[in-house]
Amino acid sequence: MSTETELQTRCESKCELCAATESLSVYEVPPASKGSIDECIMICSTCQQQIDGVEELEVNHWRCLNDSMWSQVLAVQIMAWRMLTRLSTEGWAQDLLDMLYLDDDALVWAKATGEGESAEDEVKHIDSNGAVLIAGDTVTLIKDLNVKGAGFTAKRGTAVRGISLVADNADHIEGKVSGQQIVILTKFVKKAG
Ligand SMILES: [Zn+2]
Repeated sequence: MSTETELQTRCESKCELCAATESLSVYEVPPASKGSIDECIMICSTCQQQIDGVEELEVNHWRCLNDSMWSQVLAVQIMAWRMLTRLSTEGWAQDLLDMLYLDDDALVWAKATGEGESAEDEVKHIDSNGAVLIAGDTVTLIKDLNVKGAGFTAKRGTAVRGISLVADNADHIEGKVSGQQIVILTKFVKKAG
């Protein structure tokens, strides 16, 4: 049985993303290497053109993913993940994305085409030595800091445990000094041990 015939059977002659029955063709989910049926899905031309970027994304068309993302076929889940990622500025798409569980290997495949990378442009918090800080780290202050509004000076050498990162500002972390939650500039701390 050829891949195409096998696919016809699997998809029951419907687009595996939107269930349309017209102009179906085989789509190899890139980067397909083996060309096996596991890496192919049957999709309609409407889906295909929007996936390829020939046509602009028609947001409402992709509400079909609400159903198809639950497919047993991994390649379909992968395409659902990619399209939801493209649409993730839409609240409903982000909600679906949050529900779509892919294991580590599948995620590697899903991300292989670079989908969603710009969306995840992470903010990196770097200490005075150039070390990357992560939430929960302990840092020490490398100079005396006047804490504005709190009326005390945080002394050089003070350890701040369990810091949190200010998500939208790479220069700011937060931590407790003398029982008060304060904002600290990353250039004034050093990651401990
Ligand atoms: Zn379709």
